[in-house]
Amino acid sequence: MIPPIANNFVAGETPEGALDHVADLNESGVKGILNLLGEHYDERPPADADADAYIDLIERIDRTGLDCCVSVKPSQIGLDVGGEVFAENFRRIVEAGDDHGVFVWCDMEDYTTIDTTLDTFEAVAREFDGGVGLCVQANLKRTRADLERLADVPCKVRLVKGAYDEPPEVAYKEKSKVDEAYREYLAFMFANFDGGIAVGSHDPKMIEHALELHEEHGTSFEIQMLMGVREDAQEVLAVDGVDVYQYIPYGGKWVSYFYRRVRERKENALFALRAVLG
Ligand code: FAD
Repeated sequence: MIPPIANNFVAGETPEGALDHVADLNESGVKGILNLLGEHYDERPPADADADAYIDLIERIDRTGLDCCVSVKPSQIGLDVGGEVFAENFRRIVEAGDDHGVFVWCDMEDYTTIDTTLDTFEAVAREFDGGVGLCVQANLKRTRADLERLADVPCKVRLVKGAYDEPPEVAYKEKSKVDEAYREYLAFMFANFDGGIAVGSHDPKMIEHALELHEEHGTSFEIQMLMGVREDAQEVLAVDGVDVYQYIPYGGKWVSYFYRRVRERKENALFALRAVLG
C-alpha cells in the first residue's frame, strides 16, 4: 500500500486503484492520463512486460468507459535497449489504443533520446492517422524546429518546461529564458496548429497566456497538470469549461517518483502533510 503523503501524488500500485482514482476525478469534470511508473530498462523483458501492461490497461479503460488516456515513457518500453524495441512496443500500444478508442501520449526524456523518439512517433502517428500525442520541452533550443515538423503530423503536442538537467549547448538554463521560450513556443502552436495543443504546466502565467492565445486564435487546447499539484485549480478550470487532464502515475515503482516531486518543491511535501494532518 502507498503510505499517506505519497498517495497524494501516486494513485495506487495497481490498475484497479488507478482507475478508481480516475472514476472520482471524472465526477469533477477532470479527465485522466494514466502513467505506469517505470523507466530506463536496459533489458528487453521488463520493457516488453510494461508494454503488455499498457495494452491490458487500455483494454480496461475501454471496458470501464472512463474519460482517460495513457502516457508512456520511451525508456520504459525499450529505448535504452534499442530504437527498434521502442518502435515495436510503441506501435503495439498505439494499435491497442486504436482498437479500443484510447488516446496514447508519449512522454519526452533527455535530449539525447529526442531524434529517435520523434522519428518513431511520427511514423506511428502517420500510420494510425492520429490517436497519439508527443511531449516537447520548452527548455530545449531545438524545440521550435521540432514544432514546425510536428505541425504537419496528425497528433496532439504537449508543451512542458522540461524536467531534465540538460547541457547549456542545447538548453536554456535560466528560468526566465525557459519561461520566455514557453510563451514563444505556445504562441507558435496556437498560430500554426489545427488544435491538439496541450499546455503541460502548473504555472498560472502560462495558463493565462494560453487562455489569451485561445481567445485570439480560437484554436482548441487542453491543460494538463500532475496529480497532487494545484488540484483545486484543475477543478476550477474544468468547471469553467476548459478541457483539463490530470497526469496520474501508478504502480509499484512509486518511491523514486515521489521523492522527485518532493525534491522539486518542498511545498509539495508540506501541502501533502497538511492534507494528512487535516
Ligand atoms: P514551474 O516553473 O515549476 O512553476 C511555475 C509556477 O507554477 C510556480 O511559481 C507556481 O505558481 C506554480 N506551481 C508549480 N508547481 C506547484 C506546486 N507543486 N504547487 C503549487 N503551485 C505550483 N517533463 C519532461 O521533461 N517530459 C515529459 O514528458 C513531461 N511530462 C509532463 C506531463 C505533465 C502533465 C506535466 C504537468 C508536466 C510534465 N513534465 C514533463 C514536467 C515539466 O517539464 C516540468 O518539470 C514541471 O511541470 C514543472 O514546471 P511548471 O510548468 O509546472 O512550472
